[in-house]
Amino acid sequence: MESDGPSDSLRVRSTLQRVRSLFAPYMSESIKVSESDSSGLGMFSTKYITRGELILIDHPIVSVPDVDLALSPYNEHDGGDSLCLTDVISSNFSPSVEKCLRTLYPIRSNCSLVKTSSVPPELVDRLRCHLPDNISPGHLIAAVQLNSLGYYTFPELVTYDDHLRFLSGTGIYPQGSMFNHSCHPNINHYAVGDVTFFRATHDIPAGEELFISYIGRDLLVESKSIRDEFLNARDFKCACSKCKDVDDGPDPWLEELGIQERAKLRLLKSREERVLYIEQILKSHDYISRDVFELKFAMARDSGLTGLAIWNELISSTNGCLDMQSIVLRMHFLRNFGQNDTVEAELVETGRLVLGDDMGSFDFLQSLFRITDFK
Ligand SMILES: [Zn+2]
Repeated sequence: MESDGPSDSLRVRSTLQRVRSLFAPYMSESIKVSESDSSGLGMFSTKYITRGELILIDHPIVSVPDVDLALSPYNEHDGGDSLCLTDVISSNFSPSVEKCLRTLYPIRSNCSLVKTSSVPPELVDRLRCHLPDNISPGHLIAAVQLNSLGYYTFPELVTYDDHLRFLSGTGIYPQGSMFNHSCHPNINHYAVGDVTFFRATHDIPAGEELFISYIGRDLLVESKSIRDEFLNARDFKCACSKCKDVDDGPDPWLEELGIQERAKLRLLKSREERVLYIEQILKSHDYISRDVFELKFAMARDSGLTGLAIWNELISSTNGCLDMQSIVLRMHFLRNFGQNDTVEAELVETGRLVLGDDMGSFDFLQSLFRITDFK
C-alpha cells in the first residue's frame, strides 16, 4: 500500500475513531492504582486474577498515529514520537488532560529539574505558553517519554503487512500508563487501533503489582544487556526480579523468537522455507511461537478448506492467551471462503473463545472486521 500523506492520516484517524466506538473503556474491579515500592505509582491486583483474564480496556487521552508523526517536524528527531505527542498534548490541554498528567511521574512528584537541552526550542516556547505555571516543559516531556505507550495493531506480523500497518502510534493512557515495567511481566497488552487491552498472562494472587513490558515481547527473551539497550532508549533502568537474577535465561512461556532467529527468518525468501525454519527452532523450545502462528496462517489463507483445518489446529494448540489480534486475523482469513454458514459459525465460535459470550456476537465481529479492513 502506497503512502499518500494527509489522506492516510484522515483515513487512520477515522478508523481509530470507529474502533474506539466499538470498545467502551473498561476497568476490572480486580485492579487498582496504588503506591509502588519501586517507582511511584503502579497497578495492583485487589483480588485473585486468573490467567487470560481481561483486566482493562483503555482509550488514550491523547494519541499520535505514526502517519502523523511521519508528517511532523519531529520525525527524524531522537525520541521524535514523544516530542510529537508532547506537542499535541500542549495544544489540546484541558482539565481532563491535566488531571491525568498530574498522576504521572515526574509531574506528580515535581522532582528535580528535567533538562530540555536536546528539545527543539520552538517546542519549549510553545509548551511555556500552554502549560500551567507549575508544570514545566521539561517535566511534561519527561512524563510523556516515561509514560507513553506505543500501540501496534498486529505488531508481530511477518507475512501479512498489507493490512493495518498504519494503525500504530503512541498515546498517553489514563490507566494503562500506570503500569510499571518488568522483564517478566504478568500482564500482556495489545491494541486494536489505539484502544489498548490488558490481559493477565499468569494467575495472580490479590495484592501483587501488575507489570507490562515496555519493550517488545521478542526482546524479553534476550540477555539483560540487550534488554537494557532498548529500555535505555526510554531512559529506564530496570530493577525487576529477572534483571536482579543471576540466572538470566530465556523465559519458556514467551511466545516469541529471539532477534537472531528473526533476522535469519527475514532472510529466507520463500514462505515454505520460513515455516520449515521456524518448525526446526520450535523443536528446541516448548512453546508455540507467534511467528509460526502467523506464517501458518498465511499458508492456511492460501490453501482453501485445507487451510481452515490448519487454522483450527493452530487455535487448539495456543495456550489460552488468544487475543483480539488472533480474531481479526481469523476474520480476514475467513473472508477468503466467502459468506456461508460455516464462516458465520466459525466467527461466532472464535468470538466466544476470545471475547466471551457477551462481546463475541456475529454483528460485533462483522463491524470490527469492516472497520479494520484496509484492503
Ligand atoms: Zn528487568
